[in-house]
Amino acid sequence: MRLRFSMDEITLKAHAKINLGLDVLGEREDGYHEVRMVMQSLSLCDVLLIKKTNDREIKIQTNLASLPLDGDNLVYQAAKLLMDEFGIGCGVEVSLEKMIPVAAGMAGGSSDAAATLRGMNELFSLGLSKEGLMERGLKLGADIPYCVMGGTALAEGIGEKLTALPPMVKCPVLVVKPGVSVSTKSVYQNLNLDNVTHPDIDAIISCIENKNLGGICAHIGNVLESVTIPQHPVIAQIKELMVKSGAKAALMSGSGPSVFGIFEDESLARNTKEKILDGGLAREVYVTSIYNNM
Ligand code: ATP
Repeated sequence: MRLRFSMDEITLKAHAKINLGLDVLGEREDGYHEVRMVMQSLSLCDVLLIKKTNDREIKIQTNLASLPLDGDNLVYQAAKLLMDEFGIGCGVEVSLEKMIPVAAGMAGGSSDAAATLRGMNELFSLGLSKEGLMERGLKLGADIPYCVMGGTALAEGIGEKLTALPPMVKCPVLVVKPGVSVSTKSVYQNLNLDNVTHPDIDAIISCIENKNLGGICAHIGNVLESVTIPQHPVIAQIKELMVKSGAKAALMSGSGPSVFGIFEDESLARNTKEKILDGGLAREVYVTSIYNNM
């Protein structure tokens, strides 16, 4: 979403995503996995301010000291990709306000990259369509085309084959990132597809189409929980506490370790946040909501 735009600077929001459904169909010959995922944007977002400069450099500043500021940052990579392709003769300075938990399964970096592509497109009048931005985003990461698109979508292939779905019912969502680290690569490597319950992705889609929140909550599922939860039982504890405290459903997002809970009542979500903080299960806890106005 674009917030503000002048000739020389633009402010954008980069929204977090959750997976209402994540299924893995198998491994491809190139080592990537074939997936079927229902993607959903949240109001929780990073904010980027991109300014034109005269020195041909890409400079990044952020509130989070642990983030790389060089070519390892996806914002840098996205800006460079367009600067190189279009021979842009000046530089950019990007202020990145991180709110989305990092390395959490919420596509924070991918969403920042998507926002950078959108912002550069406007700032330098590159004339790229949404599809053009998505194509370029895929060169940097499988989740980036979805982050350009946003809202509710089915992602297939390695995540890049996207079909827009009708907007998900808007409701409060509690996001919890426990203080454990997960490597997406090793989660996929340790996945044993003979031994998992596959979520019914088609049932989730049909409940989204029918605005049936109860049905969505009954069907949400993530095969990667079978790998990450045994390694980090705190994820199961958080899910259990959420459901006991009134969440309609709770699930790990992506390869984890973030957990989200779907609520009908925001005050229940807020009370649950306090319980999680008081119980010491996590320190990064956010009450947010389903977001569809991309
Ligand atoms: P996904 O859900 O797409 O797997 P994620 O939420 O698990 O993503 P990110 O928050 O995108 O993971 O971060 C993964 C790694 O990418 C981090 O270790 C971080 O150092 C690096 N990174 C590069 N650029 C960014 C960025 N702009 N924001 C966050 N992390 C970034």
